[in-house]
Amino acid sequence: MPFKYPDLCHRIVANTVMAVDSYYDGTPCWLWVGAFNASGYGKISLRWQRGPRKGQVRSALAHRISLEVFKNRRLTARSVAKHLCNNPVCVNPDHLVGGTQKSNVRQCVAEGRHFTPFRKAA
Ligand SMILES: [Zn+2]
Repeated sequence: MPFKYPDLCHRIVANTVMAVDSYYDGTPCWLWVGAFNASGYGKISLRWQRGPRKGQVRSALAHRISLEVFKNRRLTARSVAKHLCNNPVCVNPDHLVGGTQKSNVRQCVAEGRHFTPFRKAA
């Protein structure tokens, strides 16, 4: 009998550790210690609960699921879960906010973290 978490909230918390040096707004980052995808974001395996692929395993981004299960935010395929703490491995729902990719890039540029890798010479 495989171990089962009572719900996704427990499963997320069980896969994180509290940061000691990374805070946002007075609360520590929840550092994901589970699996990661190639971009360095935490990932979590879930099963589709409904729809045509019900029962099949899907791989989801841990910070998106955190926002959904703790804050009841419904994220569509077009929306992104942004990190207010700019820590990609953080899944603290208080450090996450739903938004669009446009607003995400705007925040990135505004904070000077934007980088254009292969800019063509004029
Ligand atoms: Zn954080």
